[in-house]
Amino acid sequence: MTAKLPFTQKPLSQLRGASFTDRHIGPGADEQAAMLDALGVDTLQTLIDQTVPEGIRLGRELDVREGLSEEAALAELRTLADQNIVNRSFIGQGYYNTLMPAVIQRNVLENPAWYTAYTPYQPEISQGRLESLLNFQQMIMDLTGLDLANASLLDEATAAAEAMTLCQRANRKNKSNDFFVADDVHPQTLDVLRTRAEHHGFNLVVAPAGSIGEHTPFGALFQYPNTSGDIPDLGQLIQTANAQGAMTAVASDLLALMLLRSPGELGADIVFGSAQRFGVPMGYGGPHAAFFAAREPLKRQVPGRIIGVSVDSRGDTALRMAMQTREQHIRREKATSNICTAQALLANLAAFYAVYHGPDGLRAIAERVHRLTAILATGLRRAGQDVQATYFDTLTLDVEPIVLERAKAAGMNLRLLDETHIGISLDETTTEADVAELFTVLLGAEHGQSVGDIDAALIGGEPTGIRADQRRQDAILTHPVFNQYHSETELLRYIKRLENKDYSLVHGMIPLGSCTMKLNATAEMMPVSWPEFANIHPFAPAEQTRGYRTMIEELERDLAEITGYDAVSMQPNSGAQGEYAGLLAIKRYQQANGEGQRDVCLIPASAHGTNPASAAMMSMKVVIVECDDNGNVDLDDLKAKAEQAGDRLSACMITYPSTHGVYEESVVELCRIVHEHGGQVYLDGANLNAQVGLTQPGLIGSDVSHLNLHKTFAIPHGGGGPGMGPIGVKAHLTPYLPGHGETGANDGAVSAAPYGSAGILPITWMYNRMLGRTGLRQSSELAILGANYIAHELADDYDVLYRGRNGRVAHECILDIRPLKADTGITEEDIAKRLMDYGFHAPTMSFPVPGTLMIEPTESESKVELDRFIDAMKGIRAEIEKVRTGEWAADQSPLRMAPHTQADVVGDWERPYSRDIGVFPSEAVRAAKFWPAVNRVDNVYGDRNFICSCPGTDAYRD
Ligand SMILES: *Cc1c(COP(=O)(O)O)cnc(C)c1O
Repeated sequence: MTAKLPFTQKPLSQLRGASFTDRHIGPGADEQAAMLDALGVDTLQTLIDQTVPEGIRLGRELDVREGLSEEAALAELRTLADQNIVNRSFIGQGYYNTLMPAVIQRNVLENPAWYTAYTPYQPEISQGRLESLLNFQQMIMDLTGLDLANASLLDEATAAAEAMTLCQRANRKNKSNDFFVADDVHPQTLDVLRTRAEHHGFNLVVAPAGSIGEHTPFGALFQYPNTSGDIPDLGQLIQTANAQGAMTAVASDLLALMLLRSPGELGADIVFGSAQRFGVPMGYGGPHAAFFAAREPLKRQVPGRIIGVSVDSRGDTALRMAMQTREQHIRREKATSNICTAQALLANLAAFYAVYHGPDGLRAIAERVHRLTAILATGLRRAGQDVQATYFDTLTLDVEPIVLERAKAAGMNLRLLDETHIGISLDETTTEADVAELFTVLLGAEHGQSVGDIDAALIGGEPTGIRADQRRQDAILTHPVFNQYHSETELLRYIKRLENKDYSLVHGMIPLGSCTMKLNATAEMMPVSWPEFANIHPFAPAEQTRGYRTMIEELERDLAEITGYDAVSMQPNSGAQGEYAGLLAIKRYQQANGEGQRDVCLIPASAHGTNPASAAMMSMKVVIVECDDNGNVDLDDLKAKAEQAGDRLSACMITYPSTHGVYEESVVELCRIVHEHGGQVYLDGANLNAQVGLTQPGLIGSDVSHLNLHKTFAIPHGGGGPGMGPIGVKAHLTPYLPGHGETGANDGAVSAAPYGSAGILPITWMYNRMLGRTGLRQSSELAILGANYIAHELADDYDVLYRGRNGRVAHECILDIRPLKADTGITEEDIAKRLMDYGFHAPTMSFPVPGTLMIEPTESESKVELDRFIDAMKGIRAEIEKVRTGEWAADQSPLRMAPHTQADVVGDWERPYSRDIGVFPSEAVRAAKFWPAVNRVDNVYGDRNFICSCPGTDAYRD
């Protein structure tokens, strides 16, 4: 018999369920108490007082509104969404309406198993998205006609800038400083190129494509089809450019390339563009995957992540990220680019779109778009209009002002080039009725054109916009993956099959230090799919984007308050881009003050690789500042190097709390020294999760920071992107924030779209709105509690490398594996792989210190999960002990053999430990087993035998 619970006597005002904050934060009140107890402190406040230096404490609540429930926040955001007007867009200019197949929307875009994964640095538990990214590369190689492709860049305009710098690196024979850009590329591409070229020290020659023969640049960039929609004679342009000693880069469009001869076939060295129209919504500018393809000899020069084929320890095919020695985290200021976060999730969406439609489906979509455009062009011509000779989907027309009025009345957005010039781009969503309505808008109600009649005439042979010699003849997308998943059942199962190979936050915690893998709440994610956010063109008229702009203003205000800065720019679409934008602001400020000679950037040895790589993009001279034994920046060395730089000191880039996971006491002093020497302080905000509500970069004394909204502010990592890297600045730098041609001032643009990847900003808006001032601060406090709890519980088994005041760490902690390695031969990599057997993703390996593991639990992990991780690490420590005592030889131990796969549990077994120990090392894992898809991957083999295309089915069968 259960006793009857008495009715509560609480008043209505106290009858409350849990708040969003209670759901966002993992440990409940009892768990928090137990964790504090373990640390020997009474209250969370005591722990924070022990940890965060007095001198930098905020000492007040943030001026941010109090939090709301999921329902209330969604209702409030709905009122903003309703202020966006979704008109039919014919603007084009690199952004098109598209139909995302529902099976992809629900099972990839809206599926946490896909969107919460991390960049596939641990390939054994990432084979699913690695395969999908390889499909993306194969698709790009086929469509561009080139030998290799990367797994995405941030947007088309920044890809253009990467193409420019690649040409300069690779074209050693041509010593010219000129880069030629055809004047018919998209204007936003030109804007980003201008900014990048100026600070790289290149001279941008912007001229008609046909004038290339009058120049001798190191590289030349053409667009095919161009921004007006014409299809230039690309082969001729490339030949001329080559004869002038230039390498060639071509901006192109994937749907057009279904019908056009590939730039690769026509001789291009590099082809890039946006994969947006392969099923990814416009989202007011992003996120979208840019693609980037190149010829084989350029492979070591290509920017960004490249997925390659290798083998695992059984000799079976296994995928992983190839040639990482090109990248910023290894090559630093000599890297091929500063790219870290890219657009993996969006590349996967585009790849699945191609897998689903296949070559025939895609060709039909392209043919249909082109036919509708041809019908429009033919009708206009019949009505006496001048129409360009070549086009794929875009026409540029001379019109009377009345046309603009009629378009407006019809709810059709056209591209306005000037008073009398418009552009019209058709796309996958355009219907016959739309074309008929366009006739009415363009020619008036009495236009007399019939879509059906013209269609019949075109079939009968009237010329269309693509000349016979421009038509693609080669077979593309012949690989089996593009030819077997065309039914929804088959595609659903393929998506699921890949998904099941990948470890993500749906399986357990991902304690990657510096990456802040926190909860990405479902309520935060839902608005991303709302049509009022998804289906807005980045250059839509301002009166149609009020909701977006209000949301962005509110977000900017909150982020300025959180960071203690005066202004925020949403343009940079990754942390690394934020660094570039921030250094650019510093540079432009110094130039305006007659101090353009300042070009030295001081960077601590422990800095993230993007810091020096971004400084290099600004042609800054990187000077490394040493750290002392406690992991703090060596102030004496800083002072000496600042003095040495003299009036050439431009900036110092620091991270706070430091990448060593401690709050440096001396940070205020550091800022003072840099300012005293005339420099500016760039504070890398990737660790803001240890600051929100407790301190502020602006308060500490820095001048500019980027924030990783995909770390601290709940945007999911997407398996390697998207992200957002807005920057905050003090007032004196405000005039030098990135401008954009579409919003007025076009100087200093760093991204293709004015607000970067605006389509994911609702996630951060929801995060701030639901947590509010108290929840934001508590999140930082709980992140600190979790890290200190782990450091404390593991201190008997591992060396915690750095500690701050009172022996406390910040929101992450570093375990030093080097002593164990010296003793036993077991490495941090062995531990990382063995953690997979225990059902975990590894912590960050060997950053910022080689031979270490950096653990960041975040506030979202419950004590139950933290304890499960602690148990796993203790279990691994006990296994290392068996190696130390000689019970197991290191190379025959489960640590070295890790990860264990299903293939390991069948067949012969001749190891000194049981299969049980191999695959079920803990009770927790017996209850819920995640099976790594492959055994340990051989990275060296893959780089020696570089392949970045899809293996044939034979390779998988073998
Ligand atoms: C993640 C990170 C970056 C780079 O951010 P991306 O968005 O990946 O470009 C820079 N600095 C630090 C310390 C980071 O952790």
